[in-house]
Amino acid sequence: MNNIEPDSDVYRTLLESTKAIPWKIDWATATFAYVGPQIEQLLGWKPDTWMTVNDWAERMHPDDRAWVVDFCIAQSQAGTDHEADYRALTSSGGYVWIRDVVHVERDAQGAPVALIGFMFDITEQKKTEQKLLELQRQLEMLSFQDGLTGVANRRKFDVVFEEEWAKARRTGQPLSMILFDIDCFKQYNDCYGHVQGDDCLRRVGEALGNTTRAETDFFARYGGEEFVLVLPSTHALGARAIAERCHESIALARIPHAASPVGPLVTVSIGVGTIVPTADDRPTDFLISVDRRLYRAKQEGRNRMVADTA
Ligand code: GH3
Ligand code: MG
Ligand code: MG
Repeated sequence: MNNIEPDSDVYRTLLESTKAIPWKIDWATATFAYVGPQIEQLLGWKPDTWMTVNDWAERMHPDDRAWVVDFCIAQSQAGTDHEADYRALTSSGGYVWIRDVVHVERDAQGAPVALIGFMFDITEQKKTEQKLLELQRQLEMLSFQDGLTGVANRRKFDVVFEEEWAKARRTGQPLSMILFDIDCFKQYNDCYGHVQGDDCLRRVGEALGNTTRAETDFFARYGGEEFVLVLPSTHALGARAIAERCHESIALARIPHAASPVGPLVTVSIGVGTIVPTADDRPTDFLISVDRRLYRAKQEGRNRMVADTA
């Protein structure tokens, strides 16, 4: 059970006092030749319970076991030094993140004779890693969210629009888009002030956002008082129906607008477009064409939609 020279006291003290746990496995018998006594402090299992590589494999999180064992065997057979991170089972049923750093001892022909390694407790590193990943996810989410209304922002729209455009090109499915612009919003701000203006934007965003089919459609704040809805696999008729529902939803929200020449409530103008993009089409041209319809809706009196090119 002990291959370390009996007179190498210095080495022994070093090995058995360090936080890294040394071990040695004899390749031919697949048994532990040595394991540092510190293992008991870390995992709770007594050193003499580490007999074979099976003890090692069995005291591993089931989700890590298969790939770690396969990986370590393959690397060892190839004679390659390696390392693996995995969760080791403690005697009390918990798990500790371990980094196993392995050196492969080989004979003159290059065949493995023994594996010598150190186990490091990397629980703290893993915790920091998880925290960083979580922060990264949050930051990514925030960077794609409009701070005022909480819906997706323009940056996210740019990404999604490009993706959906490419998908529509691949599949030959129609892609629809709806642009919304609040009518006479400058007057709203002038009449009620910017703080209430902000609140109005939130309510309009909520009313429009709630109308969409969350699993397929994508809704975003496009700019100041403009919102956009991307509708994958939606033909012109479907897009029109959804735009109508959005109009109703805004009417139902009943947000007073005393300074609007259109009526007593906040209204929106809408441009709708549908395309089956080909290699000759450009996303910006499509966007411009939908914006033109929105402009026409404004010219024709506001609180309406323009949905066709005619
Ligand atoms: P139209 O019916 O032609 O769309 O007229 P409009 O007044 O809505 O359009 P215009 O482009 O003249 O004005 C848009 C206004 O929206 C002006 C700007 O101050 C306001 N706005 C843009 N972003 C915000 C915001 O985040 N909060 C507030 N309160 N107002 C905003
Ligand atoms: Mg506008
Ligand atoms: Mg406007």
